[in-house]
Amino acid sequence: MKEITTATGGLIYGIRLRREVEYRYVGLTTKTASRRFHQHLRVAAEGRRTPFYDWVRKHDAEDLIADELDWIEGLDELGQAEIDWIAYLRSQGDRLLNLSEGGFGPTGLVWTEDMREAARLRSTGRKGLSRFGEENPFFGNSHSVEQRRKWAEERKGTFVGADNPNFGKFGPDHPGFAHTMPLESRKALSAAFTGEGNPNFGKSASAETRAKMSAVRKGVPKPSSRRSAHTRHHTNKGIVKPTCQHCIDDAAQAKLMRESETDK
Ligand SMILES: [Zn+2]
Repeated sequence: MKEITTATGGLIYGIRLRREVEYRYVGLTTKTASRRFHQHLRVAAEGRRTPFYDWVRKHDAEDLIADELDWIEGLDELGQAEIDWIAYLRSQGDRLLNLSEGGFGPTGLVWTEDMREAARLRSTGRKGLSRFGEENPFFGNSHSVEQRRKWAEERKGTFVGADNPNFGKFGPDHPGFAHTMPLESRKALSAAFTGEGNPNFGKSASAETRAKMSAVRKGVPKPSSRRSAHTRHHTNKGIVKPTCQHCIDDAAQAKLMRESETDK
């Protein structure tokens, strides 16, 4: 897909639904964003199976748009800018469907950690590079719970098993490794999904669904993990066991939440 080129630079583009501010794919090109966009449409029409192309096929082409995010001089720098943009937009909550973290790998040059670090150092502080934080046109945007629920519904089944970009990634290989959410975000999530906000609020599974779940679980010893034992025997019964790590964690978190409440 990444062709041999005589270009000395290019641009970073982001694809999104026209009606939404959230980007779903970031790419680089030495051509125009519009030309690259139409190549993507063609590949989608040919039926390629990736989360991004699956998503493209779910929408009318007229509802999609490719924005030019950044113009970059230098091909190394262009690859690094793509990596930076992907990392940045993901950190802002944009659910990018990119399979890779960007750069000229794995379809072309595979970047080593040393190359990335060298490129990062070269590009740090360069004028006109990726705009982070408040300088980013995307900064400060957020989506309503209803909107996000709609998206969740839309992408149901898109990320199952090996189709999940993080399939088989564990520990430091997982993009979420060592990532912690700020307390404020955790409280907002907790509030949004409590009671009526819980997608399962007031619902009970149909006999068919329960039969399916039961079949899947047959022969699997229960509870399947320390965490679910904790939920079943402690949380659900209102019991706190000082010997249970999850009880200790929950109590610490509850305390943290209470303290930040009284700070206000
Ligand atoms: Zn417990």
